[in-house]
Amino acid sequence: MTLTVLNPATEQPIAELEQAGVEETDEAVARAKEAYPAWRAVAPADRARLLRRLATLVEENAEELARIESQNVGKPISGARGEIGMVAQVFHFYAGAVDKHGGETIPVAGGVAATFREPLGVVGLIVPWNFPANIASWKLGPALACGNTVVLKPAELTPLSALRLRELALEAGFPEGVVNVLVGKGSVVGQRLIEHPHVAKIAFTGSTEVGRLVMQGAAGTIKRVTLELGGKSANVVFEDADLEKAAAAAPYSVFDNAGQDCCARSRVLVQRSVYDRFLELLVDATRGVKVGDPEDESTEMGPLVSAQHRETVASFVEGEPTFRGDVPDRPGFWYPCTLVEATNEDRVAREEVFGPVAAVIPFEDEADAIRVSNDTPYGLSGSIWTRDGARALRVARATDAGVISVNANTSVRVQTPFGGFKQSGFGRELGMHALEGYSEVKSVFISTEG
Ligand code: NDP
Repeated sequence: MTLTVLNPATEQPIAELEQAGVEETDEAVARAKEAYPAWRAVAPADRARLLRRLATLVEENAEELARIESQNVGKPISGARGEIGMVAQVFHFYAGAVDKHGGETIPVAGGVAATFREPLGVVGLIVPWNFPANIASWKLGPALACGNTVVLKPAELTPLSALRLRELALEAGFPEGVVNVLVGKGSVVGQRLIEHPHVAKIAFTGSTEVGRLVMQGAAGTIKRVTLELGGKSANVVFEDADLEKAAAAAPYSVFDNAGQDCCARSRVLVQRSVYDRFLELLVDATRGVKVGDPEDESTEMGPLVSAQHRETVASFVEGEPTFRGDVPDRPGFWYPCTLVEATNEDRVAREEVFGPVAAVIPFEDEADAIRVSNDTPYGLSGSIWTRDGARALRVARATDAGVISVNANTSVRVQTPFGGFKQSGFGRELGMHALEGYSEVKSVFISTEG
């Protein structure tokens, strides 16, 4: 069956692709399985060389990749360039990590015990549509570095950058069968990968709902699973914060990528003593977000990914919001920057909107801030705004989330572990921690008795 890929900023088709089914999935897994013994035997320094070459090819083709990503997701070209830059950095990082991820020797009686890190085999990578190339690289880099072969399934809406990355991997010299990409439905290709007896692990990023299906499906073959799921993170603004700085940054933690970001700080928690002042600043800053044509260099927010997703986002905003921005009068799945004053019990504060909608919620004091911030089934990221360093650390430690920033609104760095607490998933991507999710520890005992 053919898949028509749209540009969300024009609603026009930009590609027609053949979709894989169960048979093609089995063939891709068989190719990856066949390529595995030779690939795991490649010397670490040679795997590093290929990853470094891939990173360089991404850099050389960065503008093309950024345009593909911008047109397929509707994201502003300036942001897409940054994301492709990160893809290259990720491959460079794991090229450097390949031969630094070893085992240990452990003192035991009668000999020497050593641990080794062994690859898993064929790994299925299932990625979403919000940061297609970026999230694919977070999985490809450590998976390949550890000596696994992969079958990557991009989201149906946004398969184009994954296909181009596969071409670049072949050009870099990765052997045939090591990097496979399948365009097809999650319910068909994804489901088959999850249940396939020759797939050793699924690394999944997407909704919590599908994350549950991944866990269920993986049970049959005791597959390893890492899950990076949804979030409902908080921007916690204390009365002693630099309010201007916090208000200027807050919109970009919700409206970047049109809010289609698992790390979006979509709950803005504000201490009641500065609530009115901060809200004023926040409205002004939100009014300043430049929404428009993703190809325009100055655009900060593009459309949502699809018409269906726009309907979902709209369903969260009932009545007249505190602030609603403008959208361009042209085709495209536009949705305005929206601020809603809410309580933490409202649906807009409990469920992941995955759109440019922020719920602004007052709190009383530090204990109340921690209580409200943690009163969510999710636990992915969050920000704390305060000038009191001890408070920043206390609140950061008390927050049930995997990634916290203080006086900043970013979550992702190539070198640092990224992942969730609670229903935001488990396992860590990026940094050296990611390598643990793509390898098994083997313990070997060598007797020294004569
Ligand atoms: P999904 O979780 O449905 O999609 C993520 C990936 O999983 C896609 O590649 C998808 O394929 C695949 N998939 C879907 N169903 C299955 C299945 N049964 N078995 C295996 N793989 C499957 O997310 P959506 O794209 O539908 O987005 C829905 C909501 O999820 C968003 O509104 C947001 O709240 C959340 N989300 C969170 C993300 C995050 O970064 N944590 C990323 C994306 C979404 P296909 O494209 O074919 O459906």
